[in-house]
Amino acid sequence: AETVLIEQQSEQQLLRVLRENAALPEPERRTVVASLAPAAVASLAAAHGLEAAAAARHLSGYLRQLGVQFVFDVGLARALSLAEAEDELVERLTRRGEPDAAPLPLLASACPGFICYAEKTHGKLLLPHISRVRSPQQVAGSLLKRRWAQQRGTAPDRIYHVALMPCFDKKLEAARDDFRAADGQDVDCVITPIELERLLEAEGAQLADAAAVPLDRLLEAPELLVHAGSGSGGYAEHVLRAAGRRLFGADPGPVQFTPGRNPDLLEAELAADGEVKLRVAIANGFRNIQNLVQKLKRRRCPYDYVEVMACPSGCVNGGAQSRPPAELDARAHLAEVRRLYAALPGDENDASDAVRRARETVSKELLHTEYHVIESDTGALNIKW
Ligand code: SF4
Repeated sequence: AETVLIEQQSEQQLLRVLRENAALPEPERRTVVASLAPAAVASLAAAHGLEAAAAARHLSGYLRQLGVQFVFDVGLARALSLAEAEDELVERLTRRGEPDAAPLPLLASACPGFICYAEKTHGKLLLPHISRVRSPQQVAGSLLKRRWAQQRGTAPDRIYHVALMPCFDKKLEAARDDFRAADGQDVDCVITPIELERLLEAEGAQLADAAAVPLDRLLEAPELLVHAGSGSGGYAEHVLRAAGRRLFGADPGPVQFTPGRNPDLLEAELAADGEVKLRVAIANGFRNIQNLVQKLKRRRCPYDYVEVMACPSGCVNGGAQSRPPAELDARAHLAEVRRLYAALPGDENDASDAVRRARETVSKELLHTEYHVIESDTGALNIKW
């Protein structure tokens, strides 16, 4: 089933949709939109010797050349997802100790590799801890198919949304029933840097051959929007600072993470009034996820929040990112992808007005989701909150 889902969302499928769309009379055509994940943009930039912002604009030009009409950065969606995760953590911290309070630590929900693992292997233990906030990919889907479509007077099923993402797991996420409405999926197709490279190779083209075209601005948000934080998602840094400000009147400023037992486990804490108030961690890779599971089983998990990513080094190192160019080994290439990711312009403060506007007009239902314990012998069983 997973193979079928992946084939339904391939670069060839995208080309077919674009071809068929172009053959229709103008009034019958769907509006094709793309959203770009910064980790995927940074990977393509590294492979093509471009700076990341330039790569985003060449991608914008290339996708338009193929027939995509609007190209957006997922920055606003991620800022919205972060704002919701911040609220969720503050609520859990505020209600800590109450009998019906949701448990801590809160675990991030942006990585479908981790969600799939949690649902299939430790559902009853892990799912109550996982944030109910949709990932940036799926928030972008909600914004585009609901809010932006409404603004344009276009029905959601007249929009075809393709997302450029760093791994194949994002295709499975896009295909989840939880993200399907009567008028279709919020994200119709996910393609990856590897697949985009195949399209370029088939034409004998380089990314820089396409015109550099500014991205469209989703709901008046800045063209590109990257927040401070790790190359994975930056959720841990954001929530530590925000929860510190809101609950303890203490913002530590840029957070220095220190390696835990290995370089893929990073820890940070917030101290105020002489005591540690909050502990967060970034746990990348399955070794650290398994250690986290053991800590939760033994009720000895010291963190309030954990940004969990299945890939070692997080999304910058996703399984479907561009391969290193001949002159760079894998390690040097990853370092370059990280550098480019960090060099993307923008800050979450630039988005505050756009985030506020979006939060005022998008229902929580479209920003949140639920998970399911998958039991091999009995099928799926919904977790109720
Ligand atoms: Fe995909 Fe890896 Fe990022 Fe998870 S950490 S979303 S599996 S690229």
